[in-house]
Amino acid sequence: MALLEVEDLVVQFYAEDGVVRAVDGLSYEIERGETLGIVGESGAGKSVASLSLLRLIDGPGEIVEGEIRFKGRNVLECTDEALRDLRGNEIAMVFQDAGAALNPVYTVGEQIAEAVRAHRDVTDAAARERAIDLLERVGIPDAERRYSDYPHEFSGGMQQRAVIAMALSCDPDLLVCDEPTTGLDVTIEAQILELLEDLAAEFETAIQLVTHDLGVVAERCDRVLVMYAGRAVERATVEELYYDPKHPYTVGLMASIPRIGDDRDRLPAIPGTMPDLVQVPTGCRFHPRCPYAEEVCTLRDPALLDAETGVDAADADPDAHLAACHEYTGDLEAGLDYAVTVR
Ligand code: SF4
Ligand code: MG
Repeated sequence: MALLEVEDLVVQFYAEDGVVRAVDGLSYEIERGETLGIVGESGAGKSVASLSLLRLIDGPGEIVEGEIRFKGRNVLECTDEALRDLRGNEIAMVFQDAGAALNPVYTVGEQIAEAVRAHRDVTDAAARERAIDLLERVGIPDAERRYSDYPHEFSGGMQQRAVIAMALSCDPDLLVCDEPTTGLDVTIEAQILELLEDLAAEFETAIQLVTHDLGVVAERCDRVLVMYAGRAVERATVEELYYDPKHPYTVGLMASIPRIGDDRDRLPAIPGTMPDLVQVPTGCRFHPRCPYAEEVCTLRDPALLDAETGVDAADADPDAHLAACHEYTGDLEAGLDYAVTVR
């Protein structure tokens, strides 16, 4: 059994001009200890999918279909008490804006100690000691002294480290990181990502790493799920995805990663934008932007399949390379010729 199993998840929001299915039939799993990258442009549904794991979807939005099983338990059916336990002890979240996640009126150390106490029956002294230990583990120098610093006395990178320390305070089995390095400079970003990788190995924590940046997942993830317009369009091991991408959207995303020594003035980008999810395109949702689209693409929605065997995603191996494109349903006549778009 996988650590996390998401099945046919549908999350709706009610906008003025209609119903938006921000996540629309999403399925994926995370194995124990693995890092799964979830990649896509903004509006793909990555953050909504992440928030759904802990039922953190706000007010007008709701999970209307599907199942989320964590260690076999259905998160969508568990009691408030079980949900609280899940939130503190088993699944922790790290968001983009570390500054907002820290309370400005308490010291960083007190907040971490408080997180320890909230879930463990420990003395104040033990909670403090654990907080200092966690600050050290996330690479805060002089942790004992920095314990008493207020958030504003920390740099952005250090704030994010402190948030990670807080998230790890209860040894979660799954850490959900949503754009954890957006807004940090490149050097700090690399350090934070490396830290996450080291900690995941040390604490045997699985990570769901949500990002719009395929470059970020390249070295950090075991497998990658590519989302487009509320759905998974491709899933593969990181090597497979980079060396043999199967979906035109993924190929487009890769072509827009800047490479060292790139002498092009402008990077190719995927033309157009993510569709308005109130009026989703017919057939394949990517067809208005896809250079390979044929008539069938405007008529039929391609299923997510094992690209090698044609087996349905639900029955495929965890390491199978999945793609949702008519090339793999056998319905694309001209076929995909990536030589045209990737140099
Ligand atoms: Fe492009 Fe058609 Fe494949 Fe969709 S199904 S990605 S439109 S070729
Ligand atoms: Mg987001």
